[in-house]
Amino acid sequence: MSATPPNPLALDILAVAAHRDDVEQTCGGTLLKMAQMGHRTGILDLTKGEMGTRGSAEDRAREALDAAKILCVSWRHALDVPDSRVENTWENRLKVARVIRETTPRVLILPYWKGRHPDHYTASILGYEACFLAGLKKLEIGAEPHRPFKIIYATLYYDIRPTFVVDITDQFEARFESLMAYKTQFSDQEAGSGIFPAHAEIRARVEAMARHYGMLAGVTYGEPFLQKEVGLVEDLTLIPVKSI
Ligand SMILES: [Zn+2]
Repeated sequence: MSATPPNPLALDILAVAAHRDDVEQTCGGTLLKMAQMGHRTGILDLTKGEMGTRGSAEDRAREALDAAKILCVSWRHALDVPDSRVENTWENRLKVARVIRETTPRVLILPYWKGRHPDHYTASILGYEACFLAGLKKLEIGAEPHRPFKIIYATLYYDIRPTFVVDITDQFEARFESLMAYKTQFSDQEAGSGIFPAHAEIRARVEAMARHYGMLAGVTYGEPFLQKEVGLVEDLTLIPVKSI
C-alpha cells in the first residue's frame, strides 16, 4: 500500500458563490471565525464580475484578494463562468466538481436556492449537482472522487427563517472591512448611486441584518444558514439559544 501525499490544496470549508463580494456579504464572518478556530477555508467565485456597473474584472480580482486576506482565507479562485449568465450546464457542473475534488472540503457553503438574482439561485443548484458529480467514481475529470460531508446554505440574501445562526459578534468589524475592500463597488461615488448606496447607508444595512439574525440566536451579530437535514442532539442540557 502506498501512502497518498497530503494535498496542499485541501480545505476544511469551501464557500461557493456567483459573484466576488457575495461571500463577504453572506458568510464572511463565519469563514473568518472558522479560520480563527484553525480550519482551512476557501472561496470559489463562479464569475469574474465583468458585467458590474463599476470597475473592471481586474479591479474586482484585486479587491477579492484584499478581502480574502482580511477574512484569513487560505485559497480563493474565480472560474470563467460569464457574469449575469450563470447557467447550470454540464460544463459548469464539471468545473465546480473539479474544484471540489481538488480542494476536498468537508463542509460546502452554497447560496440559498431562491432569490432575486438568477445567478445566486442558479449557483445553488449548480453547486449541489456538482457535489453529486464530484463523488462519481467513473467520472474522469482528474483528482480522486470526493463529496463534502455537509452542505449548508447561506440565506442572507433571502427572507427565510434560518435553521441555525453563527455568532459573528467578534468577526463583524473585519467582515465589514472585507466588504469595503471592494472599493470600486462601495466607495462614495456619484455614478450608479441609486443601486450602490453610500458607505454610511451600507454600514447601517449590514449591521441591521447582522443584528437581526444575532437577535434570533441571543447574540449581538449573526449570520444565517439553512441545512436540509435535521439537527442531531446528544445532551438536551447543552442545546444553545434560550426559549423563554
Ligand atoms: Zn451576487
